[in-house]
Amino acid sequence: MPTPAELHKINHLLTHVLTAAVARRWPQVRPGDCGETCTGFFGDFGFGDTPPTEAEVAQIEADMRSILVECRHFAHLEKSPAQAAAFFADNPYKLAVVETLAELDERVGFYRLDEFVDVCPCQLKELGELKAISPDAFALTGTTPALWRSRGREVWLTRIHGVQAAALIGGRIGMAEDGA
Ligand SMILES: [Zn+2]
Repeated sequence: MPTPAELHKINHLLTHVLTAAVARRWPQVRPGDCGETCTGFFGDFGFGDTPPTEAEVAQIEADMRSILVECRHFAHLEKSPAQAAAFFADNPYKLAVVETLAELDERVGFYRLDEFVDVCPCQLKELGELKAISPDAFALTGTTPALWRSRGREVWLTRIHGVQAAALIGGRIGMAEDGA
């Protein structure tokens, strides 16, 4: 059985894969926050009034499995706060993330997953770590609305939920309820 730290690492890496998968299918959809839960992971996305259907969520899941198998490049890169802000000039959700990170450090951490680039200060950017995740190690369980708030602005995003297979096998957690 994987340790809690290993499960957390896998959940975190799956947030990157989820975000990259959504960006491939919907390049115009702005990604917001993402993170880990005790049983899996989630990502928030600005789908507006048309959140992905059940069939589209299944497509995202399949795309994530493809990325885990076919990914050729996964690496850390850094930008200055000004470069990072310019990169996300049209994404208020990521600009808020960049502002927070820029307060903590002089450089803002990013990752490149094949052609996709996104902000994340984590140190988990080894292709081998990503490739070590089994494509069957997770499932996407659906979507819920998620409120994004910053500086008096409120926007409803769509949260896509995922669970790890280990949590599914562990019992009590069904495909329809991911505990997030
Ligand atoms: Zn990360």
